[in-house]
Amino acid sequence: MCKFFEMLLVKAPGGVKEVLLHSCCAPCSGAVIECLLQSGIRPVVFFSNSNIVPSEEYTARLNELQRYCANLGVELIEDEYNHEAWLTVVLERTPNSLAEVKQSTHEDSADPSLMRQRQLAAAPERGERCLNCFKFRLQRAAQYAAQRGLQVLTTTLASSRWKSLEQVAEAGDWATQATGSPLLFWNQNWRKGGLQERRNQIICEQQFYNQNWCGCEFSHRDTL
Ligand code: SF4
Repeated sequence: MCKFFEMLLVKAPGGVKEVLLHSCCAPCSGAVIECLLQSGIRPVVFFSNSNIVPSEEYTARLNELQRYCANLGVELIEDEYNHEAWLTVVLERTPNSLAEVKQSTHEDSADPSLMRQRQLAAAPERGERCLNCFKFRLQRAAQYAAQRGLQVLTTTLASSRWKSLEQVAEAGDWATQATGSPLLFWNQNWRKGGLQERRNQIICEQQFYNQNWCGCEFSHRDTL
């Protein structure tokens, strides 16, 4: 049985009543969406997660979020999925393919581009690859928010204790500024004010499919 929880109330920058909420998955989003609604702020949920593989995992995470948003009457937008484009950005790829990185031999190990890709692929969570990943996803969210005329973007990435809040903030500021619009990144720490506990309660209440790895092939490798 889940305990009663008194929800934190938040205020968005400029007091706006509608924000774009980039969402990584249902477990990370449940308490954030609930908190926004209870604070009188309407979230438009934007699922932009080209990091997730394989496709079954992507679909499982999306389905759970769709179910939750539908129950609350919250709009959910699914962004285009393009894992190859995501790989190109997070590994700072040049014309070399990921397969070439994996298959490359000693002779080409001096190639700075390949060495850089290997370094990024080998990085642990919270490393340099994750900053590139946040930038890729939040840039897409920021572009959508700006096109729609929204003034504030925030993300559920800042609700996970596995993520670097500094990296999330850097990527969010970079992405919103790149739109050239008045869009602001709302750098809210979605773990504070009891939201971490409420997150766990909602996972229990909703019986969400929950996973112990972030989503990409590199995070999956690190759980094995
Ligand atoms: S570990 Fe997570 S945040 Fe880092 S690159 Fe992979 S999917 Fe992105």
